[in-house]
Amino acid sequence: MFVRILAENPRSPYTFEMLIDYVFELFEANIGLQTQHLPPLACQKGCPSCCSLRVTVTAPEIFLLADYVRQIDAAPSGAAIGLGRRIAHVNRSTRGLSETERLALRKPCPFIVRGVCIVHPVRPLACRGLASFDRQACARAVAGRDVEVPLSEPHLALRGLMQSALQSALRSAGLSWGLYEMNHGLALALDRKGRDAAWLVGSDSLAQAAIEFDWTGAGDQFDALLAT
Ligand code: SF4
Repeated sequence: MFVRILAENPRSPYTFEMLIDYVFELFEANIGLQTQHLPPLACQKGCPSCCSLRVTVTAPEIFLLADYVRQIDAAPSGAAIGLGRRIAHVNRSTRGLSETERLALRKPCPFIVRGVCIVHPVRPLACRGLASFDRQACARAVAGRDVEVPLSEPHLALRGLMQSALQSALRSAGLSWGLYEMNHGLALALDRKGRDAAWLVGSDSLAQAAIEFDWTGAGDQFDALLAT
């Protein structure tokens, strides 16, 4: 289905929305089924414990979030929040940091406003896939204590599956299919118009925010999956 959306809407400004809406719909529908037997999650509105970790996302997620940020900033109620400015500000501290360095920095995500995630409906797959059964363990881990956090395996697995399927479809369409650090990617997308259109014709217009990783093995796996 991801491949079909990309093939039928190769240059559309709505491609990101269609693609990511479908990813999120699939994630939410499946996670409901796969977690029926599990105890309730500890994650609740207003608990931003894990929201100071590094978030890695695909390019379509960044472009969708960038549109959302522009809409919030353009609304009278959003002007005071100044999300675009907040992202640029936080990015100056978080750009280029590893996961470990980000954990030590404890800098909250720029989307935390009055204790809650202001982009909750379009929060990335990475955020959806991190779900805990113990709120206190999360707080201790984020404070740097050596503690094991009981995470929901179905959330982690489904996030990995959906992300791989999306990356594989992007790769088949000849688009950049790596992962990017969210704050840096967003700062780039908001800073200069046209990065989304450039990305849709195959340019890696967010390359400066790319997470360094050897994707060779992943590409081979995607090829093997497509061949079955
Ligand atoms: S996007 Fe939302 S859920 Fe994800 S880290 Fe930022 S505030 Fe937390």
